Amino acid sequence: MTEFDLISRYFQRPASGAVLGVGDDCALTRVSSGMELALTTDMLVAGTHFFPDADPRDLGWKTLAVNLSDLAAMGAKPRWALLALSLPAADENWLAPFVEGFFCCARKFGVDLIGGDTTRGALTLCVTAAGEVPAGAALRRDGARAGDDLWLSGHAGLAALGLRHLRGEIELPEPLCRVCLKRLHTPQPRVALGLALRDHAHAAIDISDGLLADVGHIAERSRLTAEILLHQLPRLPDSVPRAIALDALLTGGDDYELAFTASPEQRLALARIAAELDLPLWRVGRMTKTDLAPRVQILDPEGKIVPWHTQGYDHFREALT
Ligand code: ADP
Ligand code: MG
Repeated sequence: MTEFDLISRYFQRPASGAVLGVGDDCALTRVSSGMELALTTDMLVAGTHFFPDADPRDLGWKTLAVNLSDLAAMGAKPRWALLALSLPAADENWLAPFVEGFFCCARKFGVDLIGGDTTRGALTLCVTAAGEVPAGAALRRDGARAGDDLWLSGHAGLAALGLRHLRGEIELPEPLCRVCLKRLHTPQPRVALGLALRDHAHAAIDISDGLLADVGHIAERSRLTAEILLHQLPRLPDSVPRAIALDALLTGGDDYELAFTASPEQRLALARIAAELDLPLWRVGRMTKTDLAPRVQILDPEGKIVPWHTQGYDHFREALT
């Protein structure tokens, strides 16, 4: 199979949302009037982000889903994606399910694959995704205000528990194990939530590196302190030791839930959104003014600071210290 056979067989699909899709030197798209283009890219490297023998269908889903999560975190509507692939071989037994998983995610969220690149090399998957957001309406990390509530969607921490189970560090009982592995392998980008939050939230981020680390980015960029209230966190699974489950919730990555801030006046509207989307939204803390460096603090019910050891995943931290 030549490179061009491979591209036309697997990646050339009708792209009704673009002016010109796969097949020319560039794709062509038209941005709707009054909208800004939101652009993001994420790379998944075998051995770093996934096990080299990971299920190709799940990988296809996840490689797009993690990018759509970034669009969701800005309140952008996903529209287009480019896929740059480095493959050790043109193995159809791998490619066919990979592409199926990728397009399954693309269809679900209304995304057209409009271009990419295909080379031979160590297995690396890189997606660039583009979406649209009304001019000035994007949910930026620097938009939080003092007095805002801090919110968290869904069930953060489960993907990290699934990963620890796969590494043999803990043993998860069924049915929790199945739920955690599903969260790890086929995360659901919170696209509908991101769109719904445009009119209600001030700032948002997706939890890909861990709650503390990612909320820390909002705190830093908004020059505020984020206070996370221990007693308002989502209920932890009771079949896992509490310390492990809490650590997964606070520092585990790969969840792709959204953390966002909103004025307390939005509580009712947010409860309505949670019901409409059938997605729990937890009010886990608040944003406060600070004279010191912006930071994240965990507070117990008496308001005392709970020390926490690590702040999520950082690819270079070990290399630099
Ligand atoms: P060029 O030489 O202009 O870079 P390529 O031969 O790399 O073109 O690609 C031919 C066409 O196929 C282009 O439109 C490119 O965007 C598309 N393409 C290549 N690889 C992929 C891929 N993995 N997914 C989607 N489109 C791809
Ligand atoms: Mg090329």
